[in-house]
Formats: sequence, structure tokens, C-alpha cells
Amino acid sequence: MPPFSTWLQIVCLVTSAGIGFRLASAEEITHSEQSPVNIGTADVVWQPTWPMIDFYYATNADLTVENINAPSVEGSVRAIVNTPSMLNFAADTYNLLQFHFHQSAEHAIDGHLAAMELHFVNQKQGSTGNNDLLIVSLLIEIGAVDNLLLAPIFSSLGSIPNPSDSFTLSSFNIATLLPDDQRVFRYTGSLTTPPYSEHENWNIFAGAPLLISQGQFDAFKALFPQGNARDLQPLDGRVVALVPEPSSFGLIGGVWGVLLIAVWRRRCRPDMVVSGGVPQATLVPVGITRS
Ligand SMILES: [Zn+2]
Repeated sequence: MPPFSTWLQIVCLVTSAGIGFRLASAEEITHSEQSPVNIGTADVVWQPTWPMIDFYYATNADLTVENINAPSVEGSVRAIVNTPSMLNFAADTYNLLQFHFHQSAEHAIDGHLAAMELHFVNQKQGSTGNNDLLIVSLLIEIGAVDNLLLAPIFSSLGSIPNPSDSFTLSSFNIATLLPDDQRVFRYTGSLTTPPYSEHENWNIFAGAPLLISQGQFDAFKALFPQGNARDLQPLDGRVVALVPEPSSFGLIGGVWGVLLIAVWRRRCRPDMVVSGGVPQATLVPVGITRS
């Protein structure tokens, strides 16, 4: 009977091989992986064992908010994140480079386009250019009141009317923008602006959208009266997965499954030292990309 550590190594190898197979399969679709896409909820495939994203975004970030080529439909308002913010995914650590907005949304859910979409652009540590991006998307709809978390950005949009205009913010709470419901639709796609680089890992939150006020929506529209969303692109055989939040593991693996996954996550990430629940990782300077 092999010792427990041997069984654990086998589990690590099998699990890693599974992740590698998915990535290899995605690599094969090299000519038709464009974004955004319509996500038909009847066609998504539930993937209960796929890795979740662990977010360690800052609650007090320093930002540089820039007007990128307004009113071009390929422009945006981009917040460069100057304070370390990161996420862990499948044994890798990604840095949050920047986040930006589109109006309308770019991804559709069952044919519906939300009012806006927020893209968090993350890049695997050590990668450069447009390589190894993981984009987290949050859909935005219009509600009754101002979104106070986004207010520091949206209330100052009038101060950056021209391309390259910018302003700085301090103590911006990025982490609280993330929803409690962290189920995501995941698929392999591309940047939605030139050069439309492919092989990007898209994760669109599947729960309730973020809400902003009509006034905040109008402030953005004043910069981009024609909108700044790319047209929907064909899936061309790609399958969109629905990845549940960690609590859903209990439905398939029970308590032992949860324990095994927890041990695997610690053993399979020798480069990460968890202290007080916050990963201690080395940040590597990387280029700034938008999608
Ligand atoms: Zn984008």
C-alpha cells in the first residue's frame, strides 16, 4: 500500500494533466477564438472540478485613470492599478494590470447585452505582451442609485474629455467590486480590441450584475457617444463552461473531496507561501494591456 504522499503525488499529476489537456485542446482552435461571444445558458457545460479563481485584489489601490482614445469605439476609460493586486489560478499567480469599461456590454447572456461591462485584465507573473492573460468580466446594469464604489472614477470622467487625459486616485477599493457569487462562465477567447490576440482565458461572472446609476452611465456615454463595444463573434465550436464556486465541490466529493483539494492546492504550489490567508508572491513588472 503506497504511503499517502505517493497517492497525493498521483492526484497532483492526474489533475495537472487534466488542466493541461484542456489548455492543449484550446490551443488547437487557433483561428476562431475571437471575443466577445453570446453565452447561451442552455448550452454551457457545468465543470465542477475546474479550478476556481482566488482573488487578492487591493482594497486601497492607487490608480491612474486614463482616457484611451475617446470617442473611438476601440477606446475606453482605463484604470492602471499601481498597488499590488493579484489572483491565484491553477497553481499560477496573476497580477491585475488594469481594469476598464465598455458600453454596452460586450458579452451577451442569452442574447441580452447589459448596459456596460467591466474587464479586469490579469497577467501571469513573468509573462509579457499579450501572453497569458486572464480576463475577469463583470456585467453592469443601471439601477436606482449611484454605485459608491465606482463613484470616484465616474464622478471625474468629465475631467478627462480628451485622449491621454488622466487623473489619479488613492485608496480605491477594487476587491469589494467583486461579487459574492463567484461562479463564472469560462471560455478561451481573444482581446476585443486590436491586435485581437487569442488564447486568452475569459471568466465572466455568472451571478447578478453590478449596478450603477443612470447618471453614471450617462457620464461614460458622454465620452463614448457611439459606444465602445466590439460586435459579437461566433463561438465556432467552442464550449462555454460554468465553473461553480468552491462550496459546490461538496455536492460531488463530500468532505473528503474538499480536504483532498485543499491539500492538493497547498502541495501543488510550492512557490506560494500562504501567511495569514494572503499569498506572499513576488510581483514582476509587466506591460500594460487592454482587451
Ligand atoms: Zn475590454
